[in-house]
Amino acid sequence: MAYQCPVCGYPGLEEAPVSPEGSPSFEICPSCGFEFGVTDGDEGFSYRQWREQWVSKGCKWWSEHHEPPPQWDPVLQLASLIEDRS
Ligand SMILES: [Zn+2]
Repeated sequence: MAYQCPVCGYPGLEEAPVSPEGSPSFEICPSCGFEFGVTDGDEGFSYRQWREQWVSKGCKWWSEHHEPPPQWDPVLQLASLIEDRS
């Protein structure tokens, strides 16, 4: 089962960003680089602030260790996130 990143919409997270009990996964999104529990918990970024920063830098694939999925499209990915929230 895969989870969607609430920051950038990437659909391939291995764990829920926050468990039902409220603990962060400490997984780093390979798409936007948000580390759940650290970027928000320790550094104080909201999902929205990180997303705006990521978009302003051109929506670049973050991970140097994982290749983006074939035909990865950050714009479509972001759009799917907005639809989910409405
Ligand atoms: Zn992300």
